[in-house]
Amino acid sequence: MRELLSGNEAVARGAYEAGVALAVSYPGTPSTEILETLADVFPQVYSQWSPNEKVAFEVAIGASIGGGRALCTMKHVGLNVAADPFMTFAYTGVNGGFVIVSCDDPEMHSSQNEQDNRTYAKFAAIPMLNPSSSQESKDMLVTGFEMSEMFDTPVMLHMTTRISHAKGIVELNDVVAGPNKKFIKDPSKYVMIPTNARKRHVVVAERMEKLRHFAEETPFNVVENNGSKIGVITGGVSYQYTKEVAPDLDYLKLGMGFPLPMKKIEQFIKSHDRIFIVEELEPFWEEMIKAAGFLQVEGKKYFGALGELSPIRVAHGLKEAGVISSVTEPVYSAGDMFPRPPVLCPGCPHRGAFMALKKLGVAVTGDIGCYTLGVMEPLNALDTCICMGASIGNAIGMERVKGSEKGTVAVIGDSTFVHSGITGLLDAVWNQSNVTIIILDNRATAMTGGQQHPATGKTLMGADSPSLNLVELVKALGVKNVKELDPYDFDLVLNTIKTEMETPGPSVIITNRPCVLMPVRIMNEPYVVDSELCTACGACFRISCPAIAASHETNKHGHPKALIDETLCTGCTLCTQVCPPEAIMLKSHFVKA
Ligand code: SF4
Ligand code: SF4
Ligand code: SF4
Repeated sequence: MRELLSGNEAVARGAYEAGVALAVSYPGTPSTEILETLADVFPQVYSQWSPNEKVAFEVAIGASIGGGRALCTMKHVGLNVAADPFMTFAYTGVNGGFVIVSCDDPEMHSSQNEQDNRTYAKFAAIPMLNPSSSQESKDMLVTGFEMSEMFDTPVMLHMTTRISHAKGIVELNDVVAGPNKKFIKDPSKYVMIPTNARKRHVVVAERMEKLRHFAEETPFNVVENNGSKIGVITGGVSYQYTKEVAPDLDYLKLGMGFPLPMKKIEQFIKSHDRIFIVEELEPFWEEMIKAAGFLQVEGKKYFGALGELSPIRVAHGLKEAGVISSVTEPVYSAGDMFPRPPVLCPGCPHRGAFMALKKLGVAVTGDIGCYTLGVMEPLNALDTCICMGASIGNAIGMERVKGSEKGTVAVIGDSTFVHSGITGLLDAVWNQSNVTIIILDNRATAMTGGQQHPATGKTLMGADSPSLNLVELVKALGVKNVKELDPYDFDLVLNTIKTEMETPGPSVIITNRPCVLMPVRIMNEPYVVDSELCTACGACFRISCPAIAASHETNKHGHPKALIDETLCTGCTLCTQVCPPEAIMLKSHFVKA
């Protein structure tokens, strides 16, 4: 049977077919749908979100050592969080098969940096497979588990946004039961004290030699001979782009991207006049192949190392190299491409906090989540955003050196706080920082689509679970000044921030309105603008609510009056609180003259 599946859905299907016992993740674009599909479509596979990627990785390690096949998925920056157990697990090796799916986000569609996680496979000395289609995403996942058990190693399946999200036909297979393993005590393998770790490092080096031989034989590294004297070494989505542009060249497709099949590569290079290496982001393969002595290969100088590749970029590179004579540019209809900068949704509970912070003019250390959009015009209310959980630490440091004369406030979402903000708050308490922290609690991991986390009271598989009480947690960490408030009450938010910034020691303000989109869209009675009362002062425009637009009516200075789109307005009331002439009123209160 065949199905049309995205790469992420195909990985979920592969996990089912491979008899995975446990799948675990923290949501992050572009990887999120793997676990969501498992929970929705394959409830036979136990799946869970963990509070962060490090914990997720450790849970998966436990499952593997316990004898089950374990799948751990995350976006590229997630592996930075999980890097500590990841590097050491490469030493211990596995019991049940273990695959880590790392989904990179070239071009940073939804990420704070653009890193090439293929380098992590080399860094940890583990094998890496890189699919170039949905079918390969499934097949390589299944093979990854077999390789993991065969070589006693975690295996990385490296995907990128376009492989994760693009759909393709996938042949479905039956479940292949993995080996029925149980936990066997073996501290010399699993307890990485230095005496054991030194021996295991030798094992890792020996394993890498075996994997090099395997790379020469695996059918995932395949030569496509089209009779050309020009050869392309490529893999992943770059293979699809290059094939689309130049189908008649010869190809060495690297489905197993680390370690490299150097003999196969040498043969391929020697049998062609010119060799191009087409790969996204870093010159990962190019450097290794040049380091092996093949200095004639060409790559990054034509295709670049920044941002996402595309057929057009590959075509331009091949034209510059003299391989093709012309590039057909895509034709876009200008009408379809209206630019739309990202903004907080109408009625977003974060808006009130950002309005207050902007008014106060304080330094605001930000974090990863929807609220990072507070940096956009016209709110301009964020000054930093480094990585998950960084805002509190950033604020502690800035406050200590008095970097901002008006003071420093850290903002962090509920899911991010649980992910890695708690330790930052512990630091603030321990070192008695005078920092003020706003936990923007919207009861969801909203940015990735509203997933559960430890404070929502539900698991990934829909079971009820105890809901973490953020107020009690913050108090238990030693914070004496804790305030919970309604972020739609602008004056209350403003005055509370002012008060807490003047209070010595760390303060925490927790906002208590849910995301207006999740789990169900909140739509209260909308507000409207009485254009006769509206003076076109523009105050409501500056709160950046997408429901508020400029009307065709203007005041005597030619400034536009405001108009509210009733289909978007959630009735949050924030605009009414900044309108001097009280021209904004509930629809039912508006009486047309
Ligand atoms: S999804 Fe929810 S939290 Fe995110 S911007 Fe929209 S309303 Fe705000
Ligand atoms: S009440 Fe005002 S700020 Fe709130 S959603 Fe409606 S238009 Fe936007
Ligand atoms: S804040 Fe009030 S008066 Fe000013 S533009 Fe908006 S609706 Fe008009």
